[in-house]
Amino acid sequence: MNEAQVRSIARSGGSPPAASDASTSPHTDPRGVKRASALEAEQRALEVLADRDLSKLLATPKERREIERARQIFVNRNLRMNKIELIGFDMDYTLAIYHMRRIEQLSFEMTLKRLIAHYGYPSEISNVLYDHQFVMRGLVVDKANGNLIKMDRYGHVGRAYHGRQQLSDEVWRRLYRELRVNLKSPEFAWIDTLFALPEACLYAGIIDLLEPKGPLDYAKLYDNIREAIDTVHRDGSLKAELRKDIGHFIFKDPQLGPSLHRLRSGGKKLFLLTNSLWSYSDQVMGHLLDGVLPEYPSWRNYFDFIVTGAAKPTFFSSNAPFLEVDATSGEDRIVGPAKALERWKVYQGGNLVAFEQMTGFAGDTVLYIGDHIYGDILKSKKTSLWRTCMVVQELEDEINYTDSRQEEISRLSEIELLRARLDDELNHRKVYLNNLERRLDKEELTDPLRAALEEERRRAKSELDKLRRALRQAVEIADTLERDVEEGFNPFWGLLFKEGNENSRFGEQVEQYACLYTSRVSNFLYYSPMQYFRSPRDLMPHEQAGALSGKLSPLGSEGPAVAASKESP
Ligand SMILES: [Mg+2]
Repeated sequence: MNEAQVRSIARSGGSPPAASDASTSPHTDPRGVKRASALEAEQRALEVLADRDLSKLLATPKERREIERARQIFVNRNLRMNKIELIGFDMDYTLAIYHMRRIEQLSFEMTLKRLIAHYGYPSEISNVLYDHQFVMRGLVVDKANGNLIKMDRYGHVGRAYHGRQQLSDEVWRRLYRELRVNLKSPEFAWIDTLFALPEACLYAGIIDLLEPKGPLDYAKLYDNIREAIDTVHRDGSLKAELRKDIGHFIFKDPQLGPSLHRLRSGGKKLFLLTNSLWSYSDQVMGHLLDGVLPEYPSWRNYFDFIVTGAAKPTFFSSNAPFLEVDATSGEDRIVGPAKALERWKVYQGGNLVAFEQMTGFAGDTVLYIGDHIYGDILKSKKTSLWRTCMVVQELEDEINYTDSRQEEISRLSEIELLRARLDDELNHRKVYLNNLERRLDKEELTDPLRAALEEERRRAKSELDKLRRALRQAVEIADTLERDVEEGFNPFWGLLFKEGNENSRFGEQVEQYACLYTSRVSNFLYYSPMQYFRSPRDLMPHEQAGALSGKLSPLGSEGPAVAASKESP
């Protein structure tokens, strides 16, 4: 019995029926015993729910517990924080939240220069401008056709652009109507990291610029951009630029130190597991945490284990050894192989199995927090029992935006419900009209009856016309409102977590693989380190449709299975 049902009994003033059957022979009839204890539980539920003192206690810390939606931690799978002993953090885009526009602009410009200098692209491509709005996590490059596409959870293509031109309906139908995108196919490339965002903009901009001058090899263009952007990241040239003014590129979240402290005070041990090398990690972490709290003069005070250059995702499946890094110099010098992981020392490489052996923490006592759906979340989920939390920094903007459009969004839901009702009604009435017409055509009818049926047919037709007009109108209104809401967030791609009526492919992956997700690590500050994160109870469609109301179908249902008794037929 759920809370609402218990309340409804309470409201009706009724008490649960007396346990007459059960109480007569509770010791001989196991079903009677169970029913009696259920009735007693229902009675206790009423008492607990009516307990005024308890309600007061639950209402008191309201100010502290009300967390604005944009800063909440959302739950896909239940997670009891008191079972978690060790919490790991990725660094880039997880502990360190980058100023996206600034780093994207820098990476865009450096990649353009590299394409001209090393790949023979004409210098005029330096005229391509960066447009932050034209990029979004979860876009897919269709390398065969030179298009950028966004998919829903089923791989169905919604929005699609060639260069920066939206595909016409005709081209979209020809290429994508029948297609379900398989991301494993080499024809497609998924832009799933924040580091890779500028490539969508580069790809579209260069196609717009070069295509009028002659045929383009779309796949080669994408591969060149991919390689150039990777090189800019891997050869250290981008990081060298970032290091010149780290504060310009990385937000310093004043709540990060206090939230890590809160977790440590709750008895958790913390570790850092990042692909960035030691010298860069040291500078970034120092910027974020050094001197923030007097108990932690250095960022290293917060962490029990520090692993840099971890080479995720292969960290989760390889047997690479842990190496000790010389943490006294900024040169990423390796001291030698590590036999143990010790506090105050810094390590590089390593692997999951050795990590669990050396730290003594394993499986679902570990929570790992990262931003990369594949490298941090999906891969760790598939190779270990680690629990996961995904940091999606775009979430704050998306929630604030949808909250600001709440009125339009509820109007849209109402119109969508109306559309469904109109559609159903129309189908019922079409069948009715068909039957009338069949009778008029085939049956021998008396004149008065024929006249009455013809009159009925006229009426049914006119009602059908009205419903048809209303449906056309509802479809048009819903499309317009939906476009307006989505494109108010991003004029090209709509919402990050949605594509049309469905979750986007990106949204679906977050739901499928991350136990928790939130916009930034410091949101843990608002929760107890013992918090039981509960996922909203999943209802199957038949439950949502009201099966819990307790009504049984009048047609054909035999009711719930019951054990044989004297009363049974
Ligand atoms: Mg990261």
